[in-house]
Amino acid sequence: MDKKELVLQYLEKLLVANETTNLTRISSWEEALVLHIEDSLVALEEINAAPEGLYGDLGTGGGFPGVPLAIYTGRETVLVDSVKKKVRILADIVSEIGMSETVSTYGGRIEDLAKEKPGAFSVLTARALSQLNSLLELSSPLLKRGGQLICYKAKVSEEEIQSALDICDLVGMKLLNRRSLVLSDGITTREIIVFQKIGSPKVKLPRNVGMAQHNPLVKK
Ligand code: SAH
Repeated sequence: MDKKELVLQYLEKLLVANETTNLTRISSWEEALVLHIEDSLVALEEINAAPEGLYGDLGTGGGFPGVPLAIYTGRETVLVDSVKKKVRILADIVSEIGMSETVSTYGGRIEDLAKEKPGAFSVLTARALSQLNSLLELSSPLLKRGGQLICYKAKVSEEEIQSALDICDLVGMKLLNRRSLVLSDGITTREIIVFQKIGSPKVKLPRNVGMAQHNPLVKK
């Protein structure tokens, strides 16, 4: 089956499952084609340019951008979400479309995955998960040196960028690339921001569960 067909099959099954379990707030097919499929694939170029190896989608929710990117890149992929029930449904759908050899799931906190698999990932994505500074802190312990974090942001303020830049050194990351675009609906703006792991963090990571998102690191 071709990639596009596989992605559409995934979406179809997800929207059916979404009728009984809350997996995504987008329930119309037309809207999902743009906001889930087209949007997820926006950073295909960035993920293909990242070092070879394991890919993780942090806070995957209904599997976005993780599943479309897994299908289009063929990378070994882990979909990560703390809501175990969601992740179990994603695993079932992934298996139904015949992708379970490349795509696995982790039902737990990103912080706990970082303790289980430190430095295991070559590339990570995060859409609609957290502020950039929190994403940097959560990602750093999971990434190998040279590994990349690809952030999907809607509108990003210069303050948010600055807070992230301020802690890059602390978490051993640097800003690699930034670009913005508008989706085919003509209204949804998207910014793709890529960071790279360049060295060991200067603080012990992960910190306790919840700290990165509720009490982000700041520059001293
Ligand atoms: N990436 C998806 C979902 C975004 S909602 C999309 O763009 O459509 C954010 C998701 O992240 C939720 O499903 C929530 O359960 C998960 N999440 C938030 N913090 C987390 C953490 N620390 N560890 C694991 N999952 C987390």
